[in-house]
Amino acid sequence: MIVGVLALQGGVEEHLTALEALGATTRKVRVPKDLDGLEGIVIPGGESTVLDKLARTFDVAEPLAVLISNGLPVFATCAGLIYLAKHLDNPARGQQTLEALDVVVRRNAFGTQRESFDTTVDVSFDSAAFPGVQASFIRAPIVTELGSTTEAIAVLNGGEVVGVRQGNIIALSFHPEETGDYRIHQAWLDLVRKRIELAI
Ligand code: GLN
Repeated sequence: MIVGVLALQGGVEEHLTALEALGATTRKVRVPKDLDGLEGIVIPGGESTVLDKLARTFDVAEPLAVLISNGLPVFATCAGLIYLAKHLDNPARGQQTLEALDVVVRRNAFGTQRESFDTTVDVSFDSAAFPGVQASFIRAPIVTELGSTTEAIAVLNGGEVVGVRQGNIIALSFHPEETGDYRIHQAWLDLVRKRIELAI
């Protein structure tokens, strides 16, 4: 089983470290041929406008969107969540997304005063609970609307949705890869493994 990490920009190394610590075989994805044979892909945080521009420049955006719409599992953090969203409340001029995740996302939702903060967040899905995930919020987005097939899996005390799931897509506003709390990476790898077993 090989999982990719979209390696155009942002927190690529942190995700590679997390996945390898959990025993996964990884591959950096930059160009379309890097997508061949992947069982899942991680889209890291960084800057969603830059991700978008580079993915289009390297011609990887379109084949990636097709694979995801055909069921390729995705784990995304922060800018990765933004880049997956069908709609953005406040896109930058000309900003495009993969339009794979049926949500509306607001970029930089915590404003300048709280641009970055660390906290703990309870995450739960599929009757599994991950209490107190160590989470780093860095110019983080929030999910402002959920589609009919998308569920909230993490909500802050103020009611802000900061984690969502749609089938084998898990997307978080924050960065557990920065804190060394790899429970959600593990849960997503379990989804990827389950999908392979069901296909056999
Ligand atoms: N605010 C950034 C964006 O719009 C996301 C920040 C992050 O990934 N840490 O893409």
